Amino acid sequence: MKVNWTGFSKKNPAERLQMLKEKGLLQDEHWQLLDSQQTLPLETANQMSENVLATLALPYSLVPDFLVDGKSYQVPFVTEEPSVVAAASFAAKIIKRSGGFETEVHKRQMIGQIALYQVDNADRAIKDILMKKKELLEQANQAYPSIVARGGGARDLWLEPKEDFLIFYLSVDTQEAMGANMLNTMLEAITLPLKDLTGGKSLMAILSNYATDSLVTARCVIGYRFLSRDTAEAELLADKMQLASKLAQVDPYRAATHNKGIFNGIDALVLATGNDWRAVEAGAHAYASREGSYRGLSTWTADPDKRQLHGQMTLPMPIATKGGSIGLNPAVAASFDLLGQPQAKELASLIVSVGLAQNFAALKALVSTGIQAGHMKLQAKSLALQAGAQGEEIAAVASCLTVKKTFNLATAQEILADLRKQDK
Ligand code: NDP
Repeated sequence: MKVNWTGFSKKNPAERLQMLKEKGLLQDEHWQLLDSQQTLPLETANQMSENVLATLALPYSLVPDFLVDGKSYQVPFVTEEPSVVAAASFAAKIIKRSGGFETEVHKRQMIGQIALYQVDNADRAIKDILMKKKELLEQANQAYPSIVARGGGARDLWLEPKEDFLIFYLSVDTQEAMGANMLNTMLEAITLPLKDLTGGKSLMAILSNYATDSLVTARCVIGYRFLSRDTAEAELLADKMQLASKLAQVDPYRAATHNKGIFNGIDALVLATGNDWRAVEAGAHAYASREGSYRGLSTWTADPDKRQLHGQMTLPMPIATKGGSIGLNPAVAASFDLLGQPQAKELASLIVSVGLAQNFAALKALVSTGIQAGHMKLQAKSLALQAGAQGEEIAAVASCLTVKKTFNLATAQEILADLRKQDK
């Protein structure tokens, strides 16, 4: 069904949920759950972690109509930062008009490692282990038979001597799971045979979050006409965005902020789907440093002849649709409902596309109006709320604040006090 999203941002939360239900984008049970505002019962939270006291809620928003590989997605975003959802919605709209995102899942396996040390003859140990490759892969699989039954399992192993260590790597097809516990179980099961084969000791056996066997690429091509109606301004913007992309390649101070902007979107969706966002962040930041210095994850290239701006980003995306807390948190089930129950590869493609979209919005704002123009309006609303404004006062205080020279909480409090005096 084609949905008209115009005015979605102007509705209140109950109206937005109602619209999603009416358009068949949210099942009744999930609509009820989100509408009830009781998305995580304390009893469930108490099972998910330890020493639980309460739950901490965050805004759960929607970025509509994200076009990836020809399919439209309604994307749940969990974020506390003002302007992230607005920026993603803006980028999603522009990129959809330009044809959307195209993605490529290069592979989907997780890597784990066993750090061996005090191995007297590393070359000999490597040869001996590689001779037993088939048996070792079988032993790993026997330690976690259910993933083999699901079509996954241990796929490859290799070794690298690094200073004091001989490091053993195992690559596993974890199917729909992220696979930390799977890998750890398999690795621990083959630690003893490895110690026997090498005569060395094992320091640790653990999954690596540097998921280079789970790389995903997202690309988009944006016509200059979507950057600005003014031809010269559109050209200038494309040139500046290309330059901004280069800046993030040469300066780690900029690269860190460039990538943080990408993670504004990625983390919001990773959180909404109940995935381990620390794992995704750790892998991506390691990948950003793969050439020896920390760089921007995305690149933007202007093609003045075709009047097109090309965006591209590749990063590890070890995302899951099963396992961990995914089946426990009821709001996560609502997220998967909104997303149309994607498989892990499809979800990974969407997440990388979301990161690229967020980056597009940030760079466009930075090289044109500056980031504060969009931020200040929303920041003013936050300050009004912090000052204690309620109902209609919020918009009134925010609007007065945006024209003041000092833009802070004290000014917001003064404006609110004046407003309340006038109303008496
Ligand atoms: P789980 O231990 O939850 O294992 C995956 C579960 O999903 C299994 O119970 C599996 O069932 C089930 N499952 C159902 N359908 C499928 C399917 N189609 N494909 C795959 N699995 C399926 O999770 P992971 O091993 O993925 O580990 C992730 C968790 O580990 C996260 O909570 C993470 O935070 C945590 N963690 C992360 C670490 C890190 O990142 N370094 C380290 C340690 C833990 P069955 O057993 O029947 O196959």
